[in-house]
Amino acid sequence: MTLCTSCNIGKLLPANLETSLKAKQCNHCHGHWVLIEDFVRWKQQASPATTVEVKDTEDHLYHVADDSIKALLCPISGTLMRKFRIKADSRRRIDYSPAVGAIWLDDGEWQLIKLSGLAGSLNVIVTEHYQHQLRRESTKQQLSEIYSRKFGAEQYQKVQDFRAWLEQQPNQADLKAYLMAQDPYRG
Ligand SMILES: [Zn+2]
Repeated sequence: MTLCTSCNIGKLLPANLETSLKAKQCNHCHGHWVLIEDFVRWKQQASPATTVEVKDTEDHLYHVADDSIKALLCPISGTLMRKFRIKADSRRRIDYSPAVGAIWLDDGEWQLIKLSGLAGSLNVIVTEHYQHQLRRESTKQQLSEIYSRKFGAEQYQKVQDFRAWLEQQPNQADLKAYLMAQDPYRG
């Protein structure tokens, strides 16, 4: 019997995350342990994008455990699990064991993933490429907020529009030189 490394109290028992998606569930904290290979097999069979139903559309209707900030140990290998963000605008992270190729989902996280439209992408979330994209998106959002505060919403919109227009002009170098010149009309 495998001890749950998240709560260190419960045991991981056979369960289903979805029909025909087998997993293990802790009988104390109710988190799920899902093997990537089981997920991929289920995805190929079930086409979850169309078949997964999200019953509770309001997220307060179900319980989501507090995100564990602490590092988690893989319940099978005992090695450190890696944390992967789900979305750019969310701090919530799921834990992945590279040693075993399995994911730990805190109670309610699978519901969150489904609500985010990522039910078919669980295996993609734990890739470097996806995480790199999220980091870029997140940086972009942060910078956008900084510019917006600095310029004010109206000015920021104007300067963004102008920049987009400028970048489409074939002679943009000349236009930029004109803009940057202290006095473009001085000989
Ligand atoms: Zn547990």
